[in-house]
Amino acid sequence: MVDHRSSQPPGFKRRGLMFVLSSPSGAGKSTIANRLLAEENGRLKMSISYTTRPIRPGEQEGREYHFVDTDTFKDMVEDDAFLEWARVFDQRYGTPRETVFKDLEAGQDILFDIDWQGAQQLFQLAGGDVVRVFILPPGLKTLRERLEGRNTDSQEIIERRMERAQAEVSHWDGYDYVLVNDDLDDCFACVQTILTAERLKRSRQRGLIGFIRKLPDN
Ligand code: ADP
Ligand code: 5GP
Repeated sequence: MVDHRSSQPPGFKRRGLMFVLSSPSGAGKSTIANRLLAEENGRLKMSISYTTRPIRPGEQEGREYHFVDTDTFKDMVEDDAFLEWARVFDQRYGTPRETVFKDLEAGQDILFDIDWQGAQQLFQLAGGDVVRVFILPPGLKTLRERLEGRNTDSQEIIERRMERAQAEVSHWDGYDYVLVNDDLDDCFACVQTILTAERLKRSRQRGLIGFIRKLPDN
C-alpha cells in the first residue's frame, strides 16, 4: 500500500522537496503554513529564517524567526551562511543554509515562507527540488480587512503592506501554482493536494527502476 502522505511505498526512498509558500502579507500564508506543519506532523519541516526586523508581540525567538541585528546579519552574509537573502520592507531576511541539502537527501521535505525574491533565488540554486506556491487574497479590500483583523501591525505598517501588495502580486508568474485564499479550508486542501502530487513525481522517487525490474508476481 502506498502511503500518499509520505509517498513512499515500503522500501522506496524519495528525495525531499523545498516547498515555497509566498503571498502578499496578510493573504493567509502563515495560517496555511502552520496548519500544514501541524497536519504533516514532522513530514514537513519549517525553515526558520533570520531577520533584522523587530520581534512582534506573540512571536518567539527561534519559532517564527531568529531575530538578529544588522551587523550580525551582514556577518552571516559574509560567511555565506544564507542560501538566499533579500531586503523586504527595509529589513533583511535570509534562509539559513544549515542542513537543507542533507535533509533533502534524507527525504525530508522543507517548508519556506519567503517572498518572491527568495523563491527566485532558491529556484536558481536548486530548481528541481523547489515547488513554488503563490497565495492570492480574493481582493484588496479583503486583504486590508485581514491585515487589520490580525491586529499585529500599526496603521502605518498596514498602509505600507497594502502598497507593497500590488508589487508582490505582479510576481505571480514566477510560481508553479497560484491559488486564491478565499475559503481557508478550500485553499488549504489545494495546498495539500499540490504537496501530495509533487511528492509522487517520478523524478523524486528513488528505487523505481529496481522495483520495476523485480516486479513481484503477487
Ligand atoms: P500572512 O502570513 O500571509 O501575512 P496570515 O496567515 O497572518 O497572513 O493571515 C492574515 C489574517 O487573515 C489572519 O488573522 C488570519 O487568521 C486571517 N485569514 C487567513 N486566511 C483567511 C481566510 N481564508 N478567510 C478569512 N480570514 C483568513
Ligand atoms: P514578515 O515581516 O511579515 O514576517 O515577513 C515579510 C515578508 O518577508 C514575507 O513576505 C515573508 O515571506 C518574507 N520572508 C521571510 N523570511 C524570508 C527569507 O528568509 N527570505 C526571503 N527572501 N523572504 C523572507
